[in-house]
Amino acid sequence: MSAQLTFVAPRRAKPSRHLADLSMAERRAAVAELGEKPFRADQLSRHYFERFTTDPEQMTDLPAASRDRLVTQLMPGLLTSVREITCDGGMTRKTLWRLFDGALVESVLMRYPDRVTMCVSSQAGCGMNCPFCATGQAGLTRNMSTAEIVEQVVAGARALAADEVPGGPGRVSNIVFMGMGEPLANYKAVIGAVRRIVEPAPAGLGISARGVTVSTVGLVPAIDKLAAEGLPVTLAVSLHAPDDELRDTLVPVNTRWKVAEVLDAAWRYAAVTKRRVSIEYALIKDINDQEWRADLLGRLLKGKLVHVNLIPLNPTPGSKWTASRPEDERAFVRRLESHGVAVTVRDTRGREIDGACGQLAAATPEQG
Ligand code: SAH
Repeated sequence: MSAQLTFVAPRRAKPSRHLADLSMAERRAAVAELGEKPFRADQLSRHYFERFTTDPEQMTDLPAASRDRLVTQLMPGLLTSVREITCDGGMTRKTLWRLFDGALVESVLMRYPDRVTMCVSSQAGCGMNCPFCATGQAGLTRNMSTAEIVEQVVAGARALAADEVPGGPGRVSNIVFMGMGEPLANYKAVIGAVRRIVEPAPAGLGISARGVTVSTVGLVPAIDKLAAEGLPVTLAVSLHAPDDELRDTLVPVNTRWKVAEVLDAAWRYAAVTKRRVSIEYALIKDINDQEWRADLLGRLLKGKLVHVNLIPLNPTPGSKWTASRPEDERAFVRRLESHGVAVTVRDTRGREIDGACGQLAAATPEQG
């Protein structure tokens, strides 16, 4: 066998710089560094966040000579669509994206009569290791950058504005951090993304913070930090069990922060933000769906600013677990309601395209 020399390009450690990573002041400084007038940063930002374009040809308000360079330097493409699958007559659309280093992430757009929800990823893979979740099985590849997270939303907004989603031109109204990853384990980039999502143009997309949900396994210090950000986003806590014995196995980080500690952090969050906290609970047949557990959960949540989202388990390939029987699900709901706790069973949009929780961890929050 003859020896072969292959040239291996040096791996870039980080995604390219993008204007969505930067504050307005930083964008103006970056543009000035490129020898352009600072206000060009505002024009570029409006192209990205208002018109969702990265095509220099369309940026007729910028000098032709500068467009390519500004776009290359501040709006490099970060996501490459690998695959797109739609269902529900095109109203649900899942996209598999490749990042610059080959890492894969997914996002889902779900159109409803009154809103459009986008479910976005915050990490390639996830390190939380929850045994019922498809992402958890593969482990963590890496954190996503702010701009990589934001670009998923911009791609959806672009498709909606271009009338590519049935139902006429539309806008993204809700964002849920329920795709791949544990958002609070990539805190800085996620907060940056939330800021870009809620800041009005030219700084960002101008989506109401009330429409943004950050879902977490319950990283207590990060929940407290989030409460102090002054961003009134909805917090969703993936509880899945009301007792430590079971939760230790379903959400392994529970061995670090127990149910009581996680819920205390949730109530502090509700007190500071005045926002109702969502409790996520995947109903798994004969594992966590017993009436006594509903009762225990009801007692823990009674009288609190809370809403329970029950999610029929979406079995992952090879999983021994499956969704609860309908009668057990109904009994669970009734038990919770008997404690005066608000509860809904989540719609499982996109299940047939593996776009429901777990394969994609796609989900729909309650409307806040
Ligand atoms: N890491 C974050 C966000 C991603 S998962 C979190 O855990 O909250 C979004 C939601 O989908 C979480 O509540 C998660 O527990 C749930 N989920 C994951 N796999 C699921 C599955 N197979 N069936 C139902 N829900 C699932």
